[in-house]
Amino acid sequence: MNEDSTPRGRASDPLSPYGDLSTLNVYRGMWHAHIQGGFPGFMQARELCRRGNFSFVGLTEHDNRYPQIDYAEKEWYAAMDEEFLIIRGFEATHPMGHITCLGFLPEQTGVDAEAARRIRFEKVAGDAGYDGFLKTAAGLGAFLALNHPHRWRERGDELIRQPGFEYLDAMELYNGNQAGKSRQQGVTVDVYDACLSRGGRLWGAANPDCHSWDVEQHDGPFNGYSVVFAETLSRRAILDSLKRGRFYASTGLEVDELALTATSLRVAAAQCRRIRFFGRAGQLLESVTKDEATYRLRGDEGYVRAELVGHTPSQQSVSELTARAWLQPVWL
Ligand SMILES: [Zn+2]
Ligand SMILES: [Zn+2]
Repeated sequence: MNEDSTPRGRASDPLSPYGDLSTLNVYRGMWHAHIQGGFPGFMQARELCRRGNFSFVGLTEHDNRYPQIDYAEKEWYAAMDEEFLIIRGFEATHPMGHITCLGFLPEQTGVDAEAARRIRFEKVAGDAGYDGFLKTAAGLGAFLALNHPHRWRERGDELIRQPGFEYLDAMELYNGNQAGKSRQQGVTVDVYDACLSRGGRLWGAANPDCHSWDVEQHDGPFNGYSVVFAETLSRRAILDSLKRGRFYASTGLEVDELALTATSLRVAAAQCRRIRFFGRAGQLLESVTKDEATYRLRGDEGYVRAELVGHTPSQQSVSELTARAWLQPVWL
């Protein structure tokens, strides 16, 4: 195993996402959701999200479906105000897998959505429409995340060597839609650890991958979301915080206290029954069955990330997974 390879990924600076959160506000939202099929329209989606205490949502239709979308610009903007933000983006079909490009639409990044429509979901390696897409998107300031990476299980070495991996900001470690098919497909924390252990520098995320917009389904809007620490509720501020790892991933469990110093990582959550800290290769460093824990950083762990498990099922009633929160890694 090549554990000490050159870091690959965008999350290289700063390496302490939770360093100073005291001046920031907390905003909940999910940023992998589709606007065809069960999409109820922008105003209804907004009302649904507000019921779940979401302040923002990222709408990310597949690139190959954008040519058929007939929503007018004014419909997007009518659903937004100072208390609710919609961030536009898309889900790119890429040889690595599906990649969320948050903040920009296909044509802005050079993705040929019409070509993507013609080739559908077949492999697109080598297609001219995708050359340079990740580089262009990263240059524009998009937030880029590899989605539902279960097919890379046991192939972490191969994944981090893929062309374009270095442009990724994040990777889904939970995908609600895939969890509806099987836990193996939906929970990919092991794939994430495999990448981190091999020099991957990217944040972990949970999303519903909302297709149905039905709260009784696995891909309902609340089955996976981010709790983001940001200065304001603006597209730029949310994108900036996501790119800097100032968020954690959740399936319904939320953190009450989070503090990172040079020597410790402290976390507390009233609804939590177990807190575990993991290091390189997913090695369990410490486990406590309490609602608070302080991990003393040794310095030789490679990285440390915390995973919290709650008492109750996740908000998503159909999910067998108990509500969880995954904190971002701290690299040492
Ligand atoms: Zn997908
Ligand atoms: Zn999707």
